[in-house]
Amino acid sequence: MVENRDWMYNAPRVSVEFINNVNDFLERAFANEAVGDEICCPCRICCNRFWYSRDVVYDHLIVKGFIENYYDWFFHEEGVSSRMDVDDNNEEVDDVADDAQDNLDGLLHDVFRDVVEESPVNQEDDLSDHEERLTKEAKKFYKLVDEDKQQLFPGSIWREAIPEINLPKSYYEAKRIVKDLGLDYKKIHACPNDCMLYHGKDGEKVACSKCGESRWKANKQGVPAKVLRYFPLKPRVQRLFICSQTAESMSWHAKERLQDGKLRHPADGKAWKDFDSNHPDFALDPRNVRLGLASDGFNPFRTMSISHSTWPVILINYNLPPWMSLKPEYFMLSLLIPGPQSPGNNIDVYLQPLIDDLKELWEVGLLTYDASSKQSFYVRAALLWTISDFPAFAMLSG
Ligand SMILES: [Zn+2]
Ligand SMILES: [Zn+2]
Repeated sequence: MVENRDWMYNAPRVSVEFINNVNDFLERAFANEAVGDEICCPCRICCNRFWYSRDVVYDHLIVKGFIENYYDWFFHEEGVSSRMDVDDNNEEVDDVADDAQDNLDGLLHDVFRDVVEESPVNQEDDLSDHEERLTKEAKKFYKLVDEDKQQLFPGSIWREAIPEINLPKSYYEAKRIVKDLGLDYKKIHACPNDCMLYHGKDGEKVACSKCGESRWKANKQGVPAKVLRYFPLKPRVQRLFICSQTAESMSWHAKERLQDGKLRHPADGKAWKDFDSNHPDFALDPRNVRLGLASDGFNPFRTMSISHSTWPVILINYNLPPWMSLKPEYFMLSLLIPGPQSPGNNIDVYLQPLIDDLKELWEVGLLTYDASSKQSFYVRAALLWTISDFPAFAMLSG
């Protein structure tokens, strides 16, 4: 007989009914599925990801309630812990999975919007015929959708032996997925003395036009002496508008920011306001991206090679609310300038590909799809300021 568990969502969480039932749940969970004196917490926040003791789980369930649709306690009850069996014949569990799936599907559809519109899958088409007509982009899209549909961990993910994991099998494969999503980087060869990049019109040269140093390592034809890694800015700006929530947040500084004269965000400051009055056409569309550039050297080898210094250049997106703009996931790593010495005043050589992109974004703009308004527009970008310590400030100004 199926047990009625409506109390999980219908009973007020301070009611005797809810509290008694939570105690009953904990009794059973600890009898069946505890490891040591902990179970994974099925509260709305932990979502069965974190393990806690009985007291903590009790508090979480009373304060936050259960994770949605957790009628089948598949992490907490004997007999249903093998999740695959439950999935096959239980609609509610499927619903939960579907919800998560919808978000990922939506994201992929947004990323490859043009592809999806151009190549609707017609059921009556001969499959091989259909595959032949797909563009390279479309193939990438369907491949990613296909991979996205696979469970990462079949079966119960926590304690049973994992028969097969659908995570990328190698570093190479993981890199391919990142590349297909348009988030990879370019390697640009550089003169070992920081004079020039082998980039654009100099792309084919084999020796530095300033100091004459070879492009290649001594005695190693084809192995570059120095490599700059550039993470192209334009696809990253486009990605910001592909997720509808992030796209909306890009106008936060104009639409939702509390304007009461207090300083909380760069948009409250004088520099921002002066910029707006000097460039009214740019300020007109709040989606135009305002960036800060930060750079400093660090030693990736800690103390093993004291003098080595690598310089990452990071772009910070100030359109976003403060609780997003300074989170690592919204920082954009733009350049990785290799060591062993600091690039010094020659940092401008390395900034060149970024500056080219910034110029284009400032002067021309970039056709971008905005998922929140479901329209394409030309986004522009401006670099408002740089953030550095004084030695780096000298380099950036130089
Ligand atoms: Zn919890
Ligand atoms: Zn040189």
